[in-house]
Amino acid sequence: MSKADRYSKMATRTANQAREAAASAKDRQKYQRTIQGMNIESHRHCVICWAPIPIKSEPAVCANNDCVESQTKKESSRKRLTIMMYLFPGIAILLLMIQLAGASG
Ligand SMILES: [Zn+2]
Repeated sequence: MSKADRYSKMATRTANQAREAAASAKDRQKYQRTIQGMNIESHRHCVICWAPIPIKSEPAVCANNDCVESQTKKESSRKRLTIMMYLFPGIAILLLMIQLAGASG
């Protein structure tokens, strides 16, 4: 396969992906317009599958087991990230202080 062939294939694939993304965005817009037209009471959406759920649902997932599971996973990884964000600078400062104390003492 020539280089030009490969590039043109790559370009086609990217264009297809863009088209797909645009199509789904359009679908979502259509959906938004539809629910605006129907006077639906305020609600929120499942963060995984986007299904409408009661506004007070916490966490914001539907009753689907897959959604609950993946949301739990996301939540725990987010928590871990938050902990690390505080922990690592904390350790760095601690080490720095130990070194400073060692140098002066
Ligand atoms: Zn869901």
